[in-house]
Amino acid sequence: MTDYKNKVQKILSARISPPLCYLHSFGCQQNVSDGEKILGLLTELGYGITNDATSADMIIYNTCAVRENAELKIYGLIGNLKHLKENNPELIIGICGCMAQQEHVVEKIKKTYKQVDLVFGTFALNELPKLVYNVLTERKLMVDITEYNNEIPEGIPAVRNDKIKTGVPIMYGCNNFCSYCIVPYVRGRERSRKPGAILKEVKELVDAGYKEIMLLGQNVNSYGKTLENPITFSELLRMINNIEGDFKIRFMSPHPKDATKEFIDAIVECDKVCKHLHLPLQSGSNRILDEMNRRYTVEKYMEIIDYARSRIPDFSFSTDIIIGFPNETYEDFKCTLDVMRKVKYDNVFSFIYSKRTGTKAALIDDKTSAEDKGKWMRELLEVQREVSSEFFKRFEGRVLDVLFDSEGKNDNWYTGKSDEFIIVEAKSDEIIIGQRKKVKITKVFNWALQGEIIN
Ligand code: SF4
Repeated sequence: MTDYKNKVQKILSARISPPLCYLHSFGCQQNVSDGEKILGLLTELGYGITNDATSADMIIYNTCAVRENAELKIYGLIGNLKHLKENNPELIIGICGCMAQQEHVVEKIKKTYKQVDLVFGTFALNELPKLVYNVLTERKLMVDITEYNNEIPEGIPAVRNDKIKTGVPIMYGCNNFCSYCIVPYVRGRERSRKPGAILKEVKELVDAGYKEIMLLGQNVNSYGKTLENPITFSELLRMINNIEGDFKIRFMSPHPKDATKEFIDAIVECDKVCKHLHLPLQSGSNRILDEMNRRYTVEKYMEIIDYARSRIPDFSFSTDIIIGFPNETYEDFKCTLDVMRKVKYDNVFSFIYSKRTGTKAALIDDKTSAEDKGKWMRELLEVQREVSSEFFKRFEGRVLDVLFDSEGKNDNWYTGKSDEFIIVEAKSDEIIIGQRKKVKITKVFNWALQGEIIN
C-alpha cells in the first residue's frame, strides 16, 4: 500500500494547489468512525478537507443501509452531483460504506449514475490508496466490494470530528442475523480487535485530551470471542477503566442476549464507565422477538434491567424499537408500550420497520397496514414523553456530572450530557465546552434537564 500512497502523493503534489475532499458519513457511530479513517487516509495522500462539496475535488458519501429511506436519499444526492461533474470532469465522486457493499447497489450505480468514479465497501478501507491511484490514472469506475478476510488493519490515521468525545471501534461485523437486519450481510462476521491495540488507542486519545470514549461495535458485549486468547467485554471494560486520566467510557450497542450480571457488575464497579445502558429492545412481544430472531425474551430483558436498578436505582436506559415488524398486531405493540412503562427509558429511538432486500423478514407477506404503523408510532411517542419526564423528575434538586460539549440556544447557555446520557443545559459566564461540571438540577423538561453549575 505504501507504494500506492507514494504514487498518489506524487501525482497530487504536482498540482498547483492541494486538492480538497468532502466526505459525509451517514448512519451509525461505526460509520462515522470509518469516515474519520477515510479522511485520515485521504489527508495522508495529499488531500485537504473542505466542508463545501461544491468546491471539492473529491466528494465521498459514506453510506448506511439500515433503512430504505437512507438509501433513497443517497441516490438523490448522487443524482444532484451530475451537474457538478459536468462542470468539472476532474471531480471524483465516491460512494462507500454499508450501502455500497451490496451487489445490487453497485449494479444500479453502474447503470444509472455514470458520474460515480469510485465504489468501495466496508472491508476495503485499507485499499483506498490503490483505488484512488487507479481512478486518478485510469479515469474509469473503480469498484471494490471484496470481503477481505484478513486481520483488522491497525494504525490507519483518523481525522476526528470532535475534540471532546470520540469513538473507538472494538469489533466489526455481526453474527446474529436478526431477521430484519442487513448489517451481517454488509459488514461480515464478527471480528474483534486485540485488546492491546484498543488500550493503546484509548490511551493516546486520553493523553490528547479527549474526555469521553465511546467503544463501538455492532454487538459490543460479544467482544473477544474471536480472539486467539478470548476475553470478555466486561474484562475489556475493566482494563480500559484502569487507564489513568480524566475521561469517561460509554459503549454502543450491547445486545440483550449477551447481557449478563457480570456485564452489569463491570459497569457498576468501573468508576469511569457511565451508568447508562443503551439496550435495544426492538419489541416487547415475545412472539415478535422470536420472529425477529433476537434470541431473548422480555422476561430475560427485564431481569437485566431489574438487576442493574437493584445495584444503582438511577441506572438509566435508552433503547431502539421497531414499530410494525411484518404482521405485528396491536396486541404485540401494546406489549412494547408495557415494557416502556416498566423500564422508563430516558430515550427511545423508534423506527417504523423498513424492508431490507436480502433479509429473512423481507420475505414475509406483511398484512399490517402502513396507516396502523403510523398511528402506533404517534402513540409510542406520546408514551415515551410520559415515561421519560417521569424518570427525569427524580433528578430535580440532585447534582449530576455533566460534560458540556456545545453552546445552547441562548447567549451564555451551554448543553452537555450527564453520565446518565440525559441532555442538561446550564448558564455560565465562562466558556465551558469540553469541561465536566457538577450541575444542580432546577428544572425538568420532557427531553432535557436544566440546572445551575455548582463547580
Ligand atoms: S445484533 Fe441484530 S440488529 Fe444488531 S447488527 Fe447484528 S443482526 Fe443487526
